[in-house]
Amino acid sequence: MALIVHKYGGTSMGSTERIRNVAKRVAKWAHGGHQMVVVPSAMSGETNRLLALAGELTPATTTVEVLRELDMIAATGEQVSVGLLAIALMAEGLDAVSYTGWQVPIQTDSAYTKARIQNIDDKRVRADLAAGKVVIITGFQGIDEHGHVTTLGRGGSDTSAVAVAAAMKADECLIFTDVDGVYTTDPRIVPEARRLRSVSFEEMLEMASLGSKVLQIRSVEFAGKYRVPLRVLSSFTPWDIPIDEEAASGTLITYEEDEKMEQAIVSGIAFSRDEAKIAVLGVPDRPGIAYTVLGAVADANIDVDVIVQNVSHEGRTDFSFTVHRNDFSRAMDLLESKVVGAIGASGLVGDPKICKVSIVGIGMRSHAGVASKMFRTLSEEGINIQMITTSEIKTSVVIDEKYMELAVRALHKAFDLELPTT
Ligand code: ASP
Ligand code: MG
Repeated sequence: MALIVHKYGGTSMGSTERIRNVAKRVAKWAHGGHQMVVVPSAMSGETNRLLALAGELTPATTTVEVLRELDMIAATGEQVSVGLLAIALMAEGLDAVSYTGWQVPIQTDSAYTKARIQNIDDKRVRADLAAGKVVIITGFQGIDEHGHVTTLGRGGSDTSAVAVAAAMKADECLIFTDVDGVYTTDPRIVPEARRLRSVSFEEMLEMASLGSKVLQIRSVEFAGKYRVPLRVLSSFTPWDIPIDEEAASGTLITYEEDEKMEQAIVSGIAFSRDEAKIAVLGVPDRPGIAYTVLGAVADANIDVDVIVQNVSHEGRTDFSFTVHRNDFSRAMDLLESKVVGAIGASGLVGDPKICKVSIVGIGMRSHAGVASKMFRTLSEEGINIQMITTSEIKTSVVIDEKYMELAVRALHKAFDLELPTT
């Protein structure tokens, strides 16, 4: 008998018919002798609908008071799904009970709309499991030290599931979703993209932060910290496929470079369209300049990604960086009004039509020439690289948005990602 956590996304919970299917799948695992904890998302579209209602009443979502209320509203989506799923499980003849985040409780900090889980008390859940019940816990939410409801950021149910699995030392956490695993890249752009049977946690973390939308990045961080056995798999297979077959499907996140790992140098190509580039020109090259420019941006809560500072000429240099496209105008306004004049820079230019394309693979650690192959591939396609950034297991380039799909396809081919590795 194992303790298994299942997470079902909004699409899997999208109608009562689908919820019935989820219940049948969970019942199959319970009848297979496993203790089951299930963490569902809100029904698809529900969180958007709820937040849009709030948006009709207030355009300003910046005060803490408003953010608190947004969490109060958004958290109801998951409350509905857990109750529905509990009833559906009872209809399958199982004992089931549902809890919201505050009932468990799942303790978080007070960063409304993007709270972090701090602690999960599993006493109540364990008692129910011991009594033979399936326990259903809302994804996406918790409670802070003041007793206020919090949510974990969009897509946060992944994190709830992984955190529950970590707290309970579950034998496995299965993330059921509308794709059947993690792919070498987005199959909508490269039809030959291949499902990875396994991917290392480090690669998954890079892919999640570089634009792959399969798992919320915090859930991957959590999984890595507590080494939660994690698998991403499809909720669209027939609910009655054999448990063994289901347990071996999808993509397994692994923690060691062991024989389970596919031995590719590059495992995947990630991309993100949501980027914008800003360059502060003719910046006096003296201590404190990076801090002055980026400090102002950070104080406005704008995340900066790729940063490049050139060699200086006659005491002046250009300083470029990327931000999320949603933050572009705010960052430009801020720099124009507060920074450019103050530091004596000669100008400010920006381009919101760029994208970032990255190759990711732990094999890059031990193989030279991977980045240069990337650059050669892009040059053969006539694609100009505007910025480059690297880590041990990834190389990212910033390029013109209009070449994104071309770049992804060319790189996928150049690194033979359409071919099976083992
Ligand atoms: N319902 C939340 C959202 O739409 C959380 C989730 O689905 O993971 O973002
Ligand atoms: Mg999701």
